[in-house]
Amino acid sequence: MPFSDLGLSAKVLSAVEAAGYTEPTPIQAQAIPHALERKDVLGIAQTGTGKTASFVLPMLTLLEKGRARARMPRTLILEPTRELAAQVEENFTKYGANSKVDVALLIGGVSFDEQIKKLDRGVDVLIATPGRLLDHFERGRLLMTGVEILVIDEADRMLDMGFIPDIERICKMIPFTRQTLFFSATMPPEITRLTEQFLQNPVRVEV
Ligand code: AMP
Repeated sequence: MPFSDLGLSAKVLSAVEAAGYTEPTPIQAQAIPHALERKDVLGIAQTGTGKTASFVLPMLTLLEKGRARARMPRTLILEPTRELAAQVEENFTKYGANSKVDVALLIGGVSFDEQIKKLDRGVDVLIATPGRLLDHFERGRLLMTGVEILVIDEADRMLDMGFIPDIERICKMIPFTRQTLFFSATMPPEITRLTEQFLQNPVRVEV
């Protein structure tokens, strides 16, 4: 199946072409059309399968309509580690080369001031680790009510690192009208329970 059959925008397709990709990976072919229809997706996939583009590409397409407001990110991506969060940001730089998207990274070990300035200017995509996100929220620098798409990535690693209570808190702060894209390499019972609590009629994609 060619990339052009998935429903992605022309801007995103030309960035994919510039990246040199000839066809979507199985997770991309299966997840992207559903994500573009605003369905919840439960993706069971390891790193290395092209999982990141399976949420970044539809997000970039969906974000072309509308614009960001101060302190109200339009989408939120949760990652278990700073390194993974930074990698997702690089994906937005690559695939979003033709798109006007403001991306902010909220990770620990970096000063709050720069992050606050960015949030105040308005961001389309917020990529965060759970602890730093909650810090900003508790300081009143962030409103979660505008989040249209929530991505929970590497959920089983979040579990290993003890982040599930934080994830539950964050999920409850975001309106239920949102779309949720959820990825995990494995499905231990705690993760299955989380998907039952926070996903609505998800399309299950397993590669
Ligand atoms: P990920 O599983 O998201 O960490 O992606 C693994 C690697 O695959 C990354 O280096 C991507 O740049 C690359 N990649 C993602 N999608 C494709 C594709 N459709 N064709 C070729 N390479 C890809």
